Amino acid sequence: MSFLALAAISKSFGPNQVVKDFNLSVGKGEFVSFLGPSGCGKTTVLRMVAGFETPSAGTIRIDGQDVTRLPANKRRIGMVFQAYALFPNMSVSQNVAFGLKVAGADRATISRRVGEMLELIKLDHLGERFPYQLSGGQQQRVALARALAPKPNLLLLDEPLSALDAQIRVSLRDDIRAIQRELGITTIFVTHDQEEALSISDRVVVMHQGRADQLGTPAEIYNRPATRFVANFVGKLNTFEARIADADEGQLNFAGKDFTAPTPLRGLRSGDPITVALRPEALALHRRHDDEASLQGKVLDFNFLGSVIRAKVEVDGRPICLDMFNQSGFTMPPVGTATELYFSRSDLLVL
Ligand code: ADP
Ligand code: MG
Repeated sequence: MSFLALAAISKSFGPNQVVKDFNLSVGKGEFVSFLGPSGCGKTTVLRMVAGFETPSAGTIRIDGQDVTRLPANKRRIGMVFQAYALFPNMSVSQNVAFGLKVAGADRATISRRVGEMLELIKLDHLGERFPYQLSGGQQQRVALARALAPKPNLLLLDEPLSALDAQIRVSLRDDIRAIQRELGITTIFVTHDQEEALSISDRVVVMHQGRADQLGTPAEIYNRPATRFVANFVGKLNTFEARIADADEGQLNFAGKDFTAPTPLRGLRSGDPITVALRPEALALHRRHDDEASLQGKVLDFNFLGSVIRAKVEVDGRPICLDMFNQSGFTMPPVGTATELYFSRSDLLVL
């Protein structure tokens, strides 16, 4: 049973169609991210859910009710924006109380609820401070508390971490997820950062030019990208120009060798050009249990990244990346060494 349902939503601004036939069904309590580059329509979809924009076509349902034309203030939605959205002339407590006051809650209810919310975001000692006295991360916590105070049905977060430093961004995203789980509130989180989306979501919608290219769990998006755009946008990828050697037998050729495709090559004919790809961690310098295929290469360089060592290896005249865990006993082959790169053909992505 879906709690939020978007059916065939489109949105045009003048002649520009910026959201195209967008469909989505979000379950109660689910955490779904919209992931995509700047300008792909993430905010526009979010604003339609919130009621700040009206779709040009399609319907939006929340908890079974058609809200497509319902004003924003009747939708019981909490929203957090990128940054600087607190009322600067109000204290933290007054900011958090704002939505409750507007809704006409009594003084005792407001005071209790503000206390609960400040405890939830672990800022119960800072209620009297003003926004300018807080760090960026603290301000976003207050914005979250303000959005949650009136007990919304749906929480919408539009790039809430983008303006923060890397370290705060990671810790606050985990806090947001923990609070979301604790409250069980259905949440949509917008980001252009793939690591952010993959790390905290139940499911991710990858958006591209106003469309949903793929909807899936983080593992599905990463392991089985549905389009070339998704494959390139999410995670690092080594691509190879390949050719179908034998369509019926599922044979393809790249980097000078024949390989068996992991899945049947439907709709393709022998001789057709295609692109295949391998993630950096799908490749190894030593044969692992499931590796039954290999490429020949020449070591170009190593990057020591801490938990991972990334090797750059020239294959078929082009540099490709290979990630290995930093395990004891690993010695790097000298730069310039000819080497075999092993992989399992089940990890081969045919795009
Ligand atoms: P994102 O949030 O993914 O960066 P947006 O939803 O903000 O993308 O914008 C998608 C496209 O719609 C962009 O090309 C943007 O310029 C355009 N757009 C957004 N809002 C308006 C508006 N009110 N009027 C005209 N064009 C708009
Ligand atoms: Mg945006």
